[in-house]
Amino acid sequence: MGAGILGLAVARETLLRHPGLRVVALDKESQIAAHQTGHNSGVIHAGVYYAPGSLKARLCLQGAREMYAYCDENDIQYERCGKVVVASGEDELPRLGDLHRRAQLNGVPGIELLDGSALAELEPHVQGVRALYSPSTGIVDFRQVANALSTEVAARGGEIITRARVVAIKPERSMVELRTAVDTWRAKTVITCAGVYADHLARMTGAPAAPKIVPFRGTYYSLRPAARSLVRGLVYPVPDPTFPFLGAHFTKQISGEVWTGPNAVLAFSRDGYRLRDIDVRELWETLSYPGFRALTTRYWRTGLAELRGEVSKRTFTRALQRLVPAVRPEDLGESHAGVRAQALSEDGRLLDDFWFDHGERVIHVRNAPSPGATSSLALAREVVQVAERALATG
Ligand SMILES: Cc1cc2nc3c(=O)[nH]c(=O)nc-3n(C[C@H](O)[C@H](O)[C@H](O)COP(=O)(O)OP(=O)(O)OC[C@H]3O[C@@H](n4cnc5c(N)ncnc54)[C@H](O)[C@@H]3O)c2cc1C
Repeated sequence: MGAGILGLAVARETLLRHPGLRVVALDKESQIAAHQTGHNSGVIHAGVYYAPGSLKARLCLQGAREMYAYCDENDIQYERCGKVVVASGEDELPRLGDLHRRAQLNGVPGIELLDGSALAELEPHVQGVRALYSPSTGIVDFRQVANALSTEVAARGGEIITRARVVAIKPERSMVELRTAVDTWRAKTVITCAGVYADHLARMTGAPAAPKIVPFRGTYYSLRPAARSLVRGLVYPVPDPTFPFLGAHFTKQISGEVWTGPNAVLAFSRDGYRLRDIDVRELWETLSYPGFRALTTRYWRTGLAELRGEVSKRTFTRALQRLVPAVRPEDLGESHAGVRAQALSEDGRLLDDFWFDHGERVIHVRNAPSPGATSSLALAREVVQVAERALATG
């Protein structure tokens, strides 16, 4: 359930492993890839950041390899343009060193440390004392990947049904009953890949309400064409290790555009792409969650800084100027946003790794933030295997 990249990859994987099985993907929107899958940075991550041994580390590396191969097989345009993570000052060097070690432990191909002059050769407008270079990081439009997956699912006999919001899921002894606003379905197994609504879907089956999804909006600005030559590849800051977001960066797009951002501010509605989109019930649900209160106690300063960037182009630009001093507020053109589904525990910890929980017949993907799109093909296999084991032992 869910026709984002993950739900579609799960449908494909199921059909690959069980040809002839009836597989149906239901989505509440009128088209596929309407949320995170269609509103992200478009980066095929190489696996630099993730804790060695974590699902993210393993599935990102595996997923990136499979994603490139899938793009080749399906004539989807991509570019292995490489990326640099830049230390702007000496104080960031220890954290850059940690990242380097992580990347090595994770087996990220071709990773190397650059000094200031090697960085200047690679990215002449970027300022930094040192940088981590990942040549195997790439870019793609994940909507195109989702389209290819949906075509393949249909060709293998699967169905994708849009405008089908799931409103109830009732596991029974040998079946699961699933209701949308118009239909009732009966399935042997249900796998939910609902992005920002992952916790709502889980609650429908009596699973614990925590971890809850907190929606974090990220705004991007597209650089005006004259400023696009300020970067050649992808340029990132050294991230705050206690925060799961990567910091505002410069991302080349496969369309030729260059995006800057995204920041990270609380979205007042789970599907809310603008500051003024407010859903009072959903907002209250977030604000009254003990985990969110614990989170704000710890991060209120970061939160305020991100919000200031949201309302002022000048402040937004200042963070970018640490990386590319020549960028000006007037270089930032149109803006758009994505909303990240980030799971938060009851005691205020942002869940770092991918996470799913399951009963006998229902598997919920409860945390699949970035690099979820990169990892989707590998993550789908993992989830389908969990479903198979649960059915076999049930
Ligand atoms: C700003 C941003 C930048 C990112 N950058 C990157 C990146 O560069 N690289 C990367 O690898 N990852 C990135 N990610 C993460 C990546 O986009 C996600 O991990 C991935 O898209 C998750 O896919 P999904 O299918 O689980 O979620 P989604 O694409 O959100 O799909 C969930 C689907 O479930 C449907 N749904 C929800 N509730 C119901 C219901 N009740 N009934 C029926 N359908 C329902 C929704 O309509 C939606 O289509 C980024 C994410 C964001 C938001």
